[in-house]
Amino acid sequence: MKSLVMEKKGELSLRDFPDIARAEEHLGPRDVRIRLHTVGICGSDVHYYVDGRLGPFVVTDPMILGHEASGTVIETGAEVTTLAVGDRVCMEPGIPDPNSRATRMGMYNVDPAVRFWATPPVHGILRPTCVHPEAFTFKLPETVSFAEAAMVEPLAVGVHAATKARIRPGDIAVVLGAGPIGLVTALAALAGGCARVYVTDIAPKKLEIAESLSPAITAVNVAQDDIARRVLADTDGWGCDIVFEATGSPRAAAGMFAPLAPGGCVVMIGGQAEPVAYDAGAAMVREARVENIFRYAHVFPRCVAMIASGAIDVKPLITRTFDFDDSVRAFEIAASAPAGDVKMQIELPQ
Ligand SMILES: [Zn+2]
Repeated sequence: MKSLVMEKKGELSLRDFPDIARAEEHLGPRDVRIRLHTVGICGSDVHYYVDGRLGPFVVTDPMILGHEASGTVIETGAEVTTLAVGDRVCMEPGIPDPNSRATRMGMYNVDPAVRFWATPPVHGILRPTCVHPEAFTFKLPETVSFAEAAMVEPLAVGVHAATKARIRPGDIAVVLGAGPIGLVTALAALAGGCARVYVTDIAPKKLEIAESLSPAITAVNVAQDDIARRVLADTDGWGCDIVFEATGSPRAAAGMFAPLAPGGCVVMIGGQAEPVAYDAGAAMVREARVENIFRYAHVFPRCVAMIASGAIDVKPLITRTFDFDDSVRAFEIAASAPAGDVKMQIELPQ
């Protein structure tokens, strides 16, 4: 099966990967077989390619990349009831152990046994077909395209963060970082009821994209402007209700309480390779609530519903699309972190 394989750090190839059919393509009674259509390139895929690792996960053997995907059901297991051949779907890439303690407690995303696509030793889905549980495969309405559906995975992170923040209608939020996750978080915060969302970055092009998403988004270039000063000036010195930290940068984390109002909430989203210091004193005097998220748990149906209704429009975030045959080049471009791109996607032949 022709797949996009990360051979080792810094080396990709598009080649036949015979082992995958044997190892991961067995159709169980509650599984569906899916022909992949669109796969988004994630920062984590790029990290594995460039660094050979991400946090504690190290790639030691050739691994197929990709986990943000949509496709079409081409076969169903004997006990599948909610999906049929021909259904267009998107897939949640992490499968927990259904019997684990975390799963039974309703937080399956932190199940230590979760098997997540393109996280070693589990292969990703930049390949023609895959087998996936019915329970983690979500049918798309007519109005949601394959490209939009492949955005559900990153959007799910923003929606989970917005849920953890416990937004109230009219809240003012700050999103630190205008990368793909920062931008989907801003969209989720607005859909969740925020009146205004400030989005910070140092890349003018990213801020331009952020501001184009909604009149309720204000872009702040923190290379020139101080976000805390700006937010305090706009709120009579009170501050914002929520700060979403979506940079993973220790510098951003160091100052993340400065724009926050008393009683406000900080949600940590950005991945942290090293321990990060933050100002506990600034948190204390505000009685700030600090939340952490790890991926998401069962928000895919909400994401699909919000894209379908128009409550969230992810289309402006999809800035480039490549053919599968071009996927090595797509990753090389993604690794160069082009300023004008948010989400690049790969389309597989149908
Ligand atoms: Zn992703």
